[in-house]
Amino acid sequence: MTLDSRLRDVERRLAEACARSGRKREDVTVIAVTKYVSAQTAAEAVGAGVRQIGENRWPDAKDKWELLKGQAVFHYIGSLQTNKAKDVVGRFDYIHSLDRLPLAEAIQKKASALGIEVPCLIQVNVSGEESKHGLPPEQVPEFLGGLRAFPAVKPIGLMTMAPHEEDPERTRPVFRGLRELRDELNRIGLTDVPLRELSMGMSNDFEVAVEEGATWVRLGTVLVGKENREG
Ligand SMILES: *Cc1c(COP(=O)(O)O)cnc(C)c1O
Repeated sequence: MTLDSRLRDVERRLAEACARSGRKREDVTVIAVTKYVSAQTAAEAVGAGVRQIGENRWPDAKDKWELLKGQAVFHYIGSLQTNKAKDVVGRFDYIHSLDRLPLAEAIQKKASALGIEVPCLIQVNVSGEESKHGLPPEQVPEFLGGLRAFPAVKPIGLMTMAPHEEDPERTRPVFRGLRELRDELNRIGLTDVPLRELSMGMSNDFEVAVEEGATWVRLGTVLVGKENREG
């Protein structure tokens, strides 16, 4: 499949998922996850109209960032070690994997040195799988309280990863759980600005995520493909 045909196919599936769930297509933004492909392929995707790029390690993202900064919005979607925050802050426009206060502190430190604010999503482990990063849902309210000590760290939404399921329908409770958590947090009013974004859904399950309210889907394989790369 060519890049163009994959882009068209994803677009059609997104439009159908939006139609099924009474959502507007423009309320869902696609992040092209380029971690499996070369900088050249990432550049082709940008040439074909992709405007959001997701990467999950700085060393792998570096080439793409240097080539494409200014042409695309960069999302850091992988788990982030505290001592690596300084590589990411100032380069990536959004961090999707905030899940502990020491990391918030490291983001704050670099952001205040640069005089910027960093919009972040709080990663939540809705499924309870041990292998998954993220806060248990019940700890998110307290975590949001703790974030007030770090004014350059701006929570704008929630992110989750669903377990891989053969039948994507089985991921629905996870995505619904994240939406309900966001709505509940907004009802309590723990943030100055209501949390808006729901970063959820990947190649295997994005249609279900859209039906459950995803505002950002993170698409690698299905959108930009997978190349054999070393490392
Ligand atoms: C790799 C990755 C994706 C994209 O994975 P695909 O299944 O190829 O779409 C999405 N989110 C995160 C956090 C990832 O690490």
